[in-house]
Amino acid sequence: MIDTSREEYWTGDRPEDIDEWLRLYAEDDNMDVVPVICHTCGNDSFELKVDQEEDAIQVKCTECGTRKILLDCDEVWEDARPRLRRCPVCKKSKSYNVRVGFARRENGSVKWVYIGNRCTSCQALGSYLDWKINYEPTDAMERNI
Ligand SMILES: [Zn+2]
Ligand SMILES: [Zn+2]
Repeated sequence: MIDTSREEYWTGDRPEDIDEWLRLYAEDDNMDVVPVICHTCGNDSFELKVDQEEDAIQVKCTECGTRKILLDCDEVWEDARPRLRRCPVCKKSKSYNVRVGFARRENGSVKWVYIGNRCTSCQALGSYLDWKINYEPTDAMERNI
């Protein structure tokens, strides 16, 4: 459940709370939200390397170390200057649950991508990144998580 009692940030006691939080953040009740799960070990917590200028994100599994550049970020990764993100709320943890929100056009393709993140230590909810998708189809991009 999302706890909205603090003014500066909200927290969620489960990874699933990212879904509701992203829909509120993006003001899109119909947003599809999918979890990022490690393909190697099935774990759902990651360290994040993010470049907020280039809109690029790579996750690294906190259990087995498998890395994955998400969605269409491969295309800009060479030019990106990603930084490892420490939680801005607790200022200690580098481990997050991550979910991806897809805002869709009427024809079903994706028009905007949102990254939702939840600190696994202090449970603060946030979004490091969102970006516009200006091409179709988007099926392959959506599956690349
Ligand atoms: Zn793993
Ligand atoms: Zn934290």
